[in-house]
Amino acid sequence: MNAPASGSDPLELLRGCFGHAAFRPHQRAAIDCLCTGRDALVLMPTGGGKSICYQIPAMLKPGCAVVVSPLIALMEDQVKALRQLGVSAAFLNSSMAASQRRRVEKDAVDGRIDLLYIAPERLLSAAGLALLARLSLLLFAIDEAHCLSRWGHDFRPDYLRLATLRQRFPGVPCAALTATADARTREEILEVLDMAGAEHFITSFNRPNICYRLLPGDRNMREALWRFIDGHPEEDAGIVYCPTRAKVEDTAAWLSDRGRTALPYHAGLPNELRRENQARFQNETGVIMTATIAFGMGIDKPDVRFVAHLGIPRSIEAYYQETGRAGRDGAPAQAWLCYGLQEIIQFRRWIEESDLRDERKRIERQKLEAMLGLCESGGCRRRVLLSYFGENHETDCGNCDNCLTPPRTEDGTLDAQKALSCVYRTGQRFGVAYLVNVLRGREDERLLRFRHHRIKTFGVGADRSVSHWHSVYRQLIAAGLAAVDSEHGGLRLTPLSEPVLKGGRRWELRVPAARPAGPVQKRKRAAPTAAPRENLGPDEEQLFDRLRAHRLILAKKLGVPPYVIFHDRTLIEMLRARPRSLEELGLISGIGATKLKRFGPDFLKLLASESEPG
Ligand code: ADP
Ligand code: ZN
Repeated sequence: MNAPASGSDPLELLRGCFGHAAFRPHQRAAIDCLCTGRDALVLMPTGGGKSICYQIPAMLKPGCAVVVSPLIALMEDQVKALRQLGVSAAFLNSSMAASQRRRVEKDAVDGRIDLLYIAPERLLSAAGLALLARLSLLLFAIDEAHCLSRWGHDFRPDYLRLATLRQRFPGVPCAALTATADARTREEILEVLDMAGAEHFITSFNRPNICYRLLPGDRNMREALWRFIDGHPEEDAGIVYCPTRAKVEDTAAWLSDRGRTALPYHAGLPNELRRENQARFQNETGVIMTATIAFGMGIDKPDVRFVAHLGIPRSIEAYYQETGRAGRDGAPAQAWLCYGLQEIIQFRRWIEESDLRDERKRIERQKLEAMLGLCESGGCRRRVLLSYFGENHETDCGNCDNCLTPPRTEDGTLDAQKALSCVYRTGQRFGVAYLVNVLRGREDERLLRFRHHRIKTFGVGADRSVSHWHSVYRQLIAAGLAAVDSEHGGLRLTPLSEPVLKGGRRWELRVPAARPAGPVQKRKRAAPTAAPRENLGPDEEQLFDRLRAHRLILAKKLGVPPYVIFHDRTLIEMLRARPRSLEELGLISGIGATKLKRFGPDFLKLLASESEPG
């Protein structure tokens, strides 16, 4: 391993080693904070550039930075990428052979490693703590720090024990990093890690390049999904999150039938297959991963062009984090979600029937409500999303479904009165499917048994479709005019119902689009989703493909994903700038000194041969 350019200052390292021209907001300040031995809380959205905040101090200062990271895949990726930059990084995890582990441990003890990545369970074992005691420790970096919050959406009990680190090694500064933390999660992180005195570095959570679309669709979700995916060129990589393992496999098979490369990923698949599918997703183009939420924590792929959800995530944090895996490279990306009422009610029931403690149930319920509120909101999605994280944006974003095509509303007062009155007259204990039957005058056996064909609301909604009434109930629930009974999934009235039901207060109903789960856009190659190919001329396309082909050869040889060599954006800059010397090539963003030396001559040659006439 080469030693990194040490002794230089942070900016020199950023430029020389990482190949970036300037720091992003807060990066420099966080680096300085850690370099002077103080604790740091770093909150930046996915793709915001958190890693540099501890990597640069680790490279600049003597001693070993210990990085705690929950997933093995993530660790291996980061270490591979760092080694390509000439940084002395290594990881320790349970998948390694003992001899390999001993070698890393010896290197670390002898001071040959600047960055050591360790999984929490390994770190906190007796052997792990004993190893730490023998190292010259520079800092701890706790990645995905929200995992230690019970309130957070991704709680890992192992993470709570990280408090031990602070007790055992009180003098070592600590960086807690996460891409998702509302105020409460933030407090818990600070408390568990005993970091009351930490400096805070908080970047806006806005991901302007992601376009959000959330649509209801009780039936035909899959067709809607297909219309969405079909709007993307085949080389686009994407993730489709499904609620169950069965759905995952089903959807993968179905998309494959339609000619896409779709691979399943869930915790029930053999490790081997999971690893293989993940590797294909990372290394090939145009792979769609259909997955449960078990997938993604460790994914560092910058050019995921879309994330689709078949079904509602359990919280806004989860939604934000999952969609955040799209478009880390900053190029346009799509987040698409289709949700149904039935599944929301099941979700609620699942929460109630789980053996969670009451407080936890309440938290889960609130989180689901907030997520439902986002789904049903008629205003700018981004503003709702960001206000959940405490950011108030004054203007609409112009890059979400509601901004792009504002939903139509109509006077829904009468429909609301019918729907609510039906709830009331049937005794506030029936679920939506039953209520809709009453409204539409469908005499099923159960209905007759309860004599609900005799009540006033029977059949008053016969003129409207099932999905219309589903939509009405969903909007009533989201607006708090009806509540779902936790035990049986029955609907009941709330204090907000009365002004509409009795007082006749006007209630706006959002009218579903003509095609309920409508297409995102017509399939065309120049669609914004095709970025970063955007605006490439035909000649440039060819050269781009050749540069990519060469990158793939290098990547295979080195056993790393292609983007670890160069991002697409860097290749595009290359073909635009047509550098003729290593020096000129080095000016391009994403090309640091090490990469310039290793890969530069090859790429220069490719570029030069293209520039020759004929
Ligand atoms: P996070 O951990 O916050 O999700 P990463 O640290 O993985 O994000 O960085 C995301 C991407 O942004 C990486 O490709 C990284 O090289 C790039 N990046 C980080 N800092 C900068 C910077 N100052 N200028 C340009 N690109 C940067
Ligand atoms: Zn918007």
